[in-house]
Amino acid sequence: MNNPAAQPQQSPLPILTHYIGGQPVVSNRPPFANIDPATGEIAAHVHEADTGIVDQAVQAARAALHGPWGRFTDPQRAAVLRRVADGIRARFDEFLAAEIRDTGKPAELASHLDIPRGAANFDVFADQIANLATETFRSPTPDGRGALNYGLRTPRGVIAVICPWNLPLLLMTWKVAPALACGNTVVVKPSEETPSTTTLLAEVMNDAGVPPGVFNVVHGFGPDSAGQYLTEHPGVNGITFTGETRTGTAIMKAAAVGVRPVSFELGGKNAALVFADCDLDAAVAGVTRSAFLNAGQVCLGTERVYVERPVFDEFVRRLKAAAEKLQPGDPYAEGTTFGPLISRGHRDKVLSYYARARNEGATVVTGGGIPALPAPLSGGWWVEPTIWTGLPADSTVLTEEIFGPCCHIAPFDREDEAVAAANDSPYGLATSIWTQDLTRAHRVAAAIEVGIAWVNCWFLRDLRTAFGGAKQSGIGREGGVHGLEFYTELRNVCIKL
Ligand code: NAD
Repeated sequence: MNNPAAQPQQSPLPILTHYIGGQPVVSNRPPFANIDPATGEIAAHVHEADTGIVDQAVQAARAALHGPWGRFTDPQRAAVLRRVADGIRARFDEFLAAEIRDTGKPAELASHLDIPRGAANFDVFADQIANLATETFRSPTPDGRGALNYGLRTPRGVIAVICPWNLPLLLMTWKVAPALACGNTVVVKPSEETPSTTTLLAEVMNDAGVPPGVFNVVHGFGPDSAGQYLTEHPGVNGITFTGETRTGTAIMKAAAVGVRPVSFELGGKNAALVFADCDLDAAVAGVTRSAFLNAGQVCLGTERVYVERPVFDEFVRRLKAAAEKLQPGDPYAEGTTFGPLISRGHRDKVLSYYARARNEGATVVTGGGIPALPAPLSGGWWVEPTIWTGLPADSTVLTEEIFGPCCHIAPFDREDEAVAAANDSPYGLATSIWTQDLTRAHRVAAAIEVGIAWVNCWFLRDLRTAFGGAKQSGIGREGGVHGLEFYTELRNVCIKL
């Protein structure tokens, strides 16, 4: 698990430490290497937490619940969150560089999506907590005087935040901001692939006046490492996790000990439905984004496209042309629109599906291999954007989440046939529906078993709305008031009048 090639003493590369109780903390385990996916070169060294470090972080978070943070009013916490948002914006270039070093994604993408959303997440939950109301009920009593019930929301306690690598700052702050808004303290375990922006955020937290111990960071892997130690720690009161459904299963088992609540955003195998009456320009542009943005490493991304037969051939031809225009390259170069996959292991996985599609008789419309790039990019984890047609519905390429820049396009003749195909999945995260028929749009949006249905758009987010997956794509909802169910304990106070 630890990379023996990592020699931090002889290296000028960044060394990322844990962050506990407002201080950088190192551990005894040898640091592991963080690889730049664009080049395959070592970009940083990262300390790995053992059980002692994780325990230290959880204890710091517990202690902070009862320190000054516990006495902060809602407006005071909201003000701190706004300072955190401002602090990210003030160090925008550092966050951008850190995110690009970890992921290799184009600067064009990270500067418009990852970093601004990372900051905006703090603003939106500052607004939320400043405007929070709870329910009240007047109840009749036999003596005629009645009783008054009102809800009281209190922090849940220490929240373990376990994050994936695809949108590191965005998805981590999407959990940390509501957790802190509600008065909890957190221990964050970023993905081993993308430790940098979380580490940087710890500095911003300090500068913004977040008391020591409220925001803690431990680095490491999942099993037999920081992730497992943190989720098994009895001092953790709730676990919020975004990642693979299989990992969610392991974490749920850990959470069962002590009957701790979980909030899960998991995998998907999302379908796009393109009807013949759609605006085809918009549909092609939308599916190009939903299939290939972030090299397909977006949980909401489209890997199954169903197109009504009259426009099938034209749609395939135009999506192929759009995919072939995507430009891999140096993340900072002007015109780069396509990044690498996150790791060698993930590229092996994606390429195994590319091979499987060929072996199962798919027509490869475009892609299917590794692009030829000059050094140093030739050492990175690149694959080509890939489109297939002609696979049977039960192909694993069509049923399992690949999480790469690829999609399969199948024709359909009837609306109910397309809806049934979209629903034929254990996952239920998101869908996008392309049609100009408003009645159809409402009908199909309601019929597809997902947490999020987009019509004539994709990944258009109002952060006040519910976000989450149906079926095996998640448990609970994030966003707006919906996350309060997880981040607070709702109590009822009943007063006899
Ligand atoms: P992953 O499940 O491999 O890892 C996610 C995190 O869990 C990492 O920090 C990892 O170290 C940790 N982890 C792994 N095993 C663990 C264990 N046994 N105990 C505790 N922690 C453990 O996921 P990934 O590869 O980082 O991310 C890609 C996956 O995330 C895809 O399946 C994707 O669909 C999903 N995802 C979902 C959403 C959503 O909102 N639904 C968003 C982004 C990504």
